[in-house]
Amino acid sequence: ESNSNLIRATLFPGDGIGPEIADSVRQIFKTAEVPIEWEEHYVGKEIDPRTNSFLTWESLESVRRNKVGLKGPMATPIGKGHRSLNLTLRKELNLYANVRPCYSLPGYKTRYDDVNLITIRENTEGEYSGLEHQVVRGVVESLKIITRQASLRVAEYAFHYAKAHGRERVSAIHKANIMQKTDGLFLKCCREVAEKYPEIKYEEVVIDNCCMMLVKNPTLFDVLVMPNLYGDIISDLCAGLIGGLGLTPSCNIGEGGIALAEAVHGSAPDIAGKNLANPTALLLSAVTMLRHLELHDKADRIQGAVLNTIAEGKYRTGDLGGTSSTTDFTNAICDHL
Ligand code: NAD
Repeated sequence: ESNSNLIRATLFPGDGIGPEIADSVRQIFKTAEVPIEWEEHYVGKEIDPRTNSFLTWESLESVRRNKVGLKGPMATPIGKGHRSLNLTLRKELNLYANVRPCYSLPGYKTRYDDVNLITIRENTEGEYSGLEHQVVRGVVESLKIITRQASLRVAEYAFHYAKAHGRERVSAIHKANIMQKTDGLFLKCCREVAEKYPEIKYEEVVIDNCCMMLVKNPTLFDVLVMPNLYGDIISDLCAGLIGGLGLTPSCNIGEGGIALAEAVHGSAPDIAGKNLANPTALLLSAVTMLRHLELHDKADRIQGAVLNTIAEGKYRTGDLGGTSSTTDFTNAICDHL
């Protein structure tokens, strides 16, 4: 039944543990009375010729129409002749920036208690352009593409994000001393955008030094923006600082104001169907979706309930050293709500 006061959002439960953790999000959204109506789409069993992928055309249309969605992990089916699901989503929806907030969870002890940073990864080009070939036997070549358009777009998003979220500093991460043309252009674009935001401090940090600084003292950073490959690696490093894959959310920002939130982790086939998965990463991704919709009250309430449940320590899933099932942990969060 459709209700015009509800915001429609696309939900891809995904594969493996996806449906279990998506159930958890649905239950918690219901308990918190979030005004969202889910439009569910599953990955197809056959290739859709219109997308050349197992993702259906209708599901992509749903995201384009709603402009907002939540995505569970998708296992890429083995076999040739189709595109990877995640690559299809990125290309078709032009998801140009991947935003990963990373903050210490109170009560869950890791080496640092005060991590609070945001990585913003360019999501469409760089080393991940898929342009690799063999030149002659024994010699292969991979093209790293950096464009002014994509670099300006992700830099603009990073500064906009910093300003909108009261952040003080943006660090561009690069290796322009070696990759003079490609990373050089990326930096040039960041500098251009930085000039339009004089209230935000701007700095440039070489990636190797950045890794050392992050591991030694993560509070040295605030918002980090970087090309695709560096973003892939640095954001996992940051996830490791706060306790791992079961906890880290992300949101993909696309052309025309699309936001598709997703957990960073995969379909976890080793624990799928056993009611063991930690739904926190998908839940916190759903929270970033609510913030995108400016439903800050609901976002704060859900985030608070998740963090309090973890901090209390009575109900924790196996990846955090506990013995709770996905269902018990979810019910505990609902009690906190
Ligand atoms: P994975 O993230 O699925 O699992 C790595 C390890 O982390 C496993 O031991 C798993 O049990 C654990 N884990 C992950 N999420 C967890 C959670 N929420 N709670 C508790 N434990 C959790 O990585 P993988 O095994 O390399 O990949 C499995 C499949 O997922 C592959 O088909 C891969 O292509 C796909 N994948 C999809 C995405 C995505 O959709 N964005 C991302 C990564 C991998």
